[in-house]
Amino acid sequence: MSKKYLLLDRDGTLIKHVPYLHRVKEVEILPEVVPVLIRALEMNFRFGIVTNQSVIGRGIASSGDVNRVNEFLCDEFFKLCGISFDFVHYCPHIPEDKCLCRKPNIGMIKIELAIGQISIYESFMIGNPNLSVLSIKTKKCVRQEGKCLGLVKMAFFFFGCLRAPLKNSLKLLP
Ligand SMILES: [Zn+2]
Repeated sequence: MSKKYLLLDRDGTLIKHVPYLHRVKEVEILPEVVPVLIRALEMNFRFGIVTNQSVIGRGIASSGDVNRVNEFLCDEFFKLCGISFDFVHYCPHIPEDKCLCRKPNIGMIKIELAIGQISIYESFMIGNPNLSVLSIKTKKCVRQEGKCLGLVKMAFFFFGCLRAPLKNSLKLLP
């Protein structure tokens, strides 16, 4: 059965944005996120992380480095607010690779969408302002594939509040 998800960006959304972050000691949880996640948990949201990690493609970090950072922040969030992330997907490529997983493409959650894990009409993607491009891309995706209507809906929903902090965005949730 599909579930409602908050699909969260990592850098600048859950943790402080540090250019080319790839070490655990560089991870700084954004404290204002915690009460928001707790509220979302009370509202029966589940959580996933989708993040572009070109540090791998640029040769700055290994996938092991990125995995260690991701495991660390998942542990920290569990300790802070009892949140578990069902998945952490990252794109290791650089823009020039023109891959299908790097946001604003939706390749990172295609499997979840395909198996019906994510309730596309009740889920939301929350990230930095770059995500505004997502709505444009997914609109195209709907026309091409006819499968991603809900994702478009959620992207539209956040279109007007992408520049607002996460806590303000959540006020708009039903
Ligand atoms: Zn990619």
